Amino acid sequence: MKAKDSETKIINKDLSPENIEVNNILFMMEKLMHWAAIIESSDDAIMSKSVDGYITSWNKGAERLYGYTSEEIIGKPVSLLMPPERKDDFPYIMRQLQEGRRIEHYETQRLTKYGKIIHVSLTVSPIRDSNGTIIGASKIARDISDKVESEKRRDEFVSTASHELKTPVTSQLAFGQLLENFIIKNGDTEYLPYIQKINLQTKKLTKLIEDLLALSRVQGGKLKMDITSFNFDDLVDEIVENMQLTTSQKISVSGISNRNIRGDKERIGQVITNLLSNAIKYSPNSDKIKVKIDTKDDSIIFSVKDYGIGIPKEYHSKLFEKFYRVTGDDEKTFPGMGIGLHVSREIINYHNGKIWVESEKDLGSTFYFSIPIDGV
Ligand code: ADP
Repeated sequence: MKAKDSETKIINKDLSPENIEVNNILFMMEKLMHWAAIIESSDDAIMSKSVDGYITSWNKGAERLYGYTSEEIIGKPVSLLMPPERKDDFPYIMRQLQEGRRIEHYETQRLTKYGKIIHVSLTVSPIRDSNGTIIGASKIARDISDKVESEKRRDEFVSTASHELKTPVTSQLAFGQLLENFIIKNGDTEYLPYIQKINLQTKKLTKLIEDLLALSRVQGGKLKMDITSFNFDDLVDEIVENMQLTTSQKISVSGISNRNIRGDKERIGQVITNLLSNAIKYSPNSDKIKVKIDTKDDSIIFSVKDYGIGIPKEYHSKLFEKFYRVTGDDEKTFPGMGIGLHVSREIINYHNGKIWVESEKDLGSTFYFSIPIDGV
């Protein structure tokens, strides 16, 4: 490496051949000192550890975050920073690195010198020797306790608000339907469209509240499952029959599994309903939706295909995240909260299945899930 005069202060100006080597070494040292200063003054905690889990370096950010000075912690095991329920983090992280995977924004918890649990986001990279063998890892930790706290408060608010809203809206719907029946019975057609509109909007509100409630149950790990063995095809037929009443699009069903699955029938039904109502909602100009039941290996593969607005590929991996909605000009045309797919994924994961999408912008979407067949 050739040193540039303008970048150097400590480099010997004598450029005789014997000094070139010295100059290069000095230049490298200056660079290293420069990087060391950046690392030392970083706000993030930056540390390194050996493959067997002993801390080998520690910056001021790490001291601020964890409370230990470098003198206190270097040479100590990283497990000192892990709360008991996170002790598996170290072997997990090292396994990922050995397999060549980088770890980015891994959210976990750590323990400070004073026994306080903090939430951190970790980025870990392998450190290799000149043969490419991993000899340790460098780790950047960022304190995300504030973010986790505010997410917790938001989740609690969503949970309380949806619980409080459910009772009045349920009774509003019940009385609205009573009134609708009464008006029909009296043949009072003038007011019928008004009450029908009120009831339709109340049903939409009920669905939104139910989504929010399902979300807060999923988050709190409180999604109670009532596990039975039931025929999958029958459940699909039942839901399709009900959904067909809500749309002019023709929903066709092809394939049969003739098999039972073990799980919560109502929750699996909720996933099928979510996928069908999305297919209807996001394909307003199409006249058909295709439902398919397939079997592969030991699983049932269920899919819903629509011919609607489609989803550009770059959004596919995000669709199942909480509150994620594809933004664009269509945003206002399709109301929603970005909850249904997230809750669906949690339900399918609980049943040891998988959920995924194939779609292209303007070419419609097919949503799939797989679920193990009972007794195989
Ligand atoms: P919501 O529909 O209430 O926004 P979801 O969680 O069900 O919430 O869906 C998340 C996002 O995925 C939607 O906002 C939409 O952008 C996209 N999406 C879901 N299903 C479809 C579909 N069949 N066609 C096009 N986009 C879809």
